[in-house]
Amino acid sequence: MKTHVKALVIGGGAVGTSIAYHLAKAGWQDVMLLERDELTSGSTWHAAGLLPYFNMSYATTWIHDHSIKLYKTLEQETGLDAGFFVVGNLRMAQTKARMDEYMLYASTAETVGVPFEWMTPAQIKERWPLVRTDDLEGAIYHPTDGYINPADVTMAMAKGARQRGVTIERKWQVDGYDWTGSEWRVTITKMVEKGGNLVPSEEQQVITAEHVVTATGNHAQRTARLLGLKIPAIPVEHQFIVTEPDPALVEWRKSNEQHPVLRDADAKWYVREERGGWILGPYERGAPARFPYGVPDSFRADLFPLDLDRIEEEYMSMIHRIPSSEEVGLKDDFNGPICYTPDGNPLIGPAPGLRNMWLAEGFSFGITAAGGAGHYLAQLMVEGEAEIDMASLDPKRFGDWMTTDYAVVKNEEAYEHVYILHHPDEERPAARPLRTSPAYDRQKEKGAQFGVVNGWERPNYYGPVDAPESFDHDARSFQRGGWWEYAAAEAKAIREGVGLIDATAFTKHMVTGPGAAAFLDWFTTNKLPKVGRINLTYALTDAGTTRTEYTIVRLAEDRFYLVSAGAWSAYDADFLRKAVEDREPEFGRIDVQDVTTQWGVFAIAGPRSREVLNRLVRDAEPSTVLSNKRFPWLSCREIELGMVPVRALRVAYTGELGWELHHPIEMQNHLWDRLMEAGAPSGMKLVGARAQNWLRQEKSYRAFGTELGRDATPLEAGLDRFVDLSKEFHGKAAMEGIGIRSKCVTLLIDGPRDADPWGREALYAGGEKVGRLTSGGWSAAFGKSIGMGYVRPDLATPGTKLKLRMFRELWDAEVCEDSPYDPTNATIRSDG
Ligand SMILES: Cc1cc2nc3c(=O)[nH]c(=O)nc-3n(C[C@H](O)[C@H](O)[C@H](O)COP(=O)(O)OP(=O)(O)OC[C@H]3O[C@@H](n4cnc5c(N)ncnc54)[C@H](O)[C@@H]3O)c2cc1C
Repeated sequence: MKTHVKALVIGGGAVGTSIAYHLAKAGWQDVMLLERDELTSGSTWHAAGLLPYFNMSYATTWIHDHSIKLYKTLEQETGLDAGFFVVGNLRMAQTKARMDEYMLYASTAETVGVPFEWMTPAQIKERWPLVRTDDLEGAIYHPTDGYINPADVTMAMAKGARQRGVTIERKWQVDGYDWTGSEWRVTITKMVEKGGNLVPSEEQQVITAEHVVTATGNHAQRTARLLGLKIPAIPVEHQFIVTEPDPALVEWRKSNEQHPVLRDADAKWYVREERGGWILGPYERGAPARFPYGVPDSFRADLFPLDLDRIEEEYMSMIHRIPSSEEVGLKDDFNGPICYTPDGNPLIGPAPGLRNMWLAEGFSFGITAAGGAGHYLAQLMVEGEAEIDMASLDPKRFGDWMTTDYAVVKNEEAYEHVYILHHPDEERPAARPLRTSPAYDRQKEKGAQFGVVNGWERPNYYGPVDAPESFDHDARSFQRGGWWEYAAAEAKAIREGVGLIDATAFTKHMVTGPGAAAFLDWFTTNKLPKVGRINLTYALTDAGTTRTEYTIVRLAEDRFYLVSAGAWSAYDADFLRKAVEDREPEFGRIDVQDVTTQWGVFAIAGPRSREVLNRLVRDAEPSTVLSNKRFPWLSCREIELGMVPVRALRVAYTGELGWELHHPIEMQNHLWDRLMEAGAPSGMKLVGARAQNWLRQEKSYRAFGTELGRDATPLEAGLDRFVDLSKEFHGKAAMEGIGIRSKCVTLLIDGPRDADPWGREALYAGGEKVGRLTSGGWSAAFGKSIGMGYVRPDLATPGTKLKLRMFRELWDAEVCEDSPYDPTNATIRSDG
């Protein structure tokens, strides 16, 4: 056996095999795959093999698209039939809201280029007469997907990998990882059969590897423990049943191709044809999480007992939808562990805190995702970055606050939510409230309806004070939800009066020490601010795309306060710490401290915000302390508001006169109460994240995770003024080399009367697809819909007229000047 390799992939399921295959395909010569048992002996062996395109996430749709295209080519490449049946996939809707959901999904499909068709109940009945359609609204049909044999496709990828030089070793279990500073020493143990169990023998080896990828399926918790990590990949039970042949289906098939895969989302199941009968796969309520602390040795390619009671409702609804299935008996059943994560997406990317350690864990649609996950992860490893922004799948999207109990509860919820209506304004209820800022109860009393960002409860909007428990849930919609009027009033209040926003969830780091300034100058694109001043700046990936947006405050020559998006605390912390570790020898000592949970943040904004603060500020000359002279725009001052020492930043993400009030978290309630008293005479309104998101689009402020990500450079994002090309910085040459592939624009949209775009819609010019929205909403200032997105560079000129697809229709959208509201920043700079 080889004892030194470039990359060691652990786990011979669909995912690990695909990664090994793609690493070799991307040009790495020396790749080894280790499997503790046999290839496909994990979850892969008992998967039903469905390959659904349908997914609400942009990155995941690209991943699924790659898999489906790749699987169709494997036989030609390897000579092995991957067992792909391209039978199509009919996703039915029982309600209008479900059709609306499909239309929203279709926006993502359209932007990626996934083919789909709309079908009426009559069209469905005509093509597939076994399906009952009298209670359907319609369906979306994918002609190019279907199902595959999971073992066959894995074996085909394994053969393809071997053909490209990958070594595959079976019956070796990884038992230890040791990082030497330049490579991993991985201790492996020969596994042997004993009394039907697979157990470790005395035989051990050490393999050294430059890179390690773990794709250990249901064993993710053991892997995490060996690596000293916490990851929320824990399996949940998933069952499917196989029926005896259905005579009606057998008869129909005599003169027809295979039946397409059926999905009755409102009934929470998929059904596909299997040897003249049906496979029913329900996503039922109450499926329990399993093995939160690891898979026992005694559990190999095993299954749990079928729990028919749990799926009775779904079983009955299959009979309703396919009446002929009532007569057929059960032939087989499968109840296996399916790995989940709290948001249902896998964890793909660099492991937190570790070097050259890559995770590919927590796959719940792992057969569908394996091909694309391997492709994009290999790009990330070999080229330094993937073509798509992998941030939404990054393992560090869950921070250290995450626990086993949290993962169990959320993973069960994610499983149960596979077929719920995925409203774009959805907020899931499990494990809440968990992370709350001190003012949480006070906000709740005022009617706050909370959303979750990185575990934090953050007001989305303030609804009626006595709203029933179900208010927010009932307010959700694919059009303008019941919350819209509250958010619209909040947006108006900030433009015309004054509003207060809780921004405590912001990620905050202190970067200090003799090397701090030189490091940050190299790490970020903009000039560093002078002491007391603030700059907006970007850290880039090696590939020159945007990794993180920072508001940098210079507190002293060698003391910097960095504020970045709240959703990405662990993601930002890991990147920053690793960069510091790398560059400290060159720049001198640099200390990094994550102070996110030590500082609360309230943002006060609006033309009357100074008036409110003037009532509270303590100073020898209180009347001038907030004036432009003493406190100019883009500066930071330590001020006292009542009895609270506040680090005030004169910035406002809403684009209005305003301050961010960073305060010691333990004094938050005192500050809240004083602000509420001082704000009352000015009619200060409490404002949530939804209104803020609309307001920032009126100012063309890009947001991280939508306009800003690892698939575009800051120049493509139109942020040239924050990129100082006269200095050297990390990623500069790569950024310049990319050029401008597409350009970020702001659009004013004449959309439907009752709906705004959500930020995933396709843009057209002359009938041709030319871009996509990344954000959307309502503009209080312009009285119409607004959006931001990326278009072909030649169409980015203000005044360009485009079309935007919403609800299957095309609507007028016009590219406007950046910052359509207050382009000269007059209100932000106003004096007083
Ligand atoms: C009943 C059921 C139906 C399903 N149907 C579908 C479907 O229709 N479509 C779909 O896309 N997905 C489906 N899934 C999910 C799918 O099975 C998984 O997402 C997929 O198999 C995950 O692949 P994987 O490679 O990540 O994990 P696995 O297949 O579990 O592979 C992990 C491998 O790692 C090995 N391993 C673990 N630890 C070590 C170690 N320390 N050293 C060496 N080797 C190690 C294990 O032995 C195992 O072989 C279904 C799941 C279930 C339970």
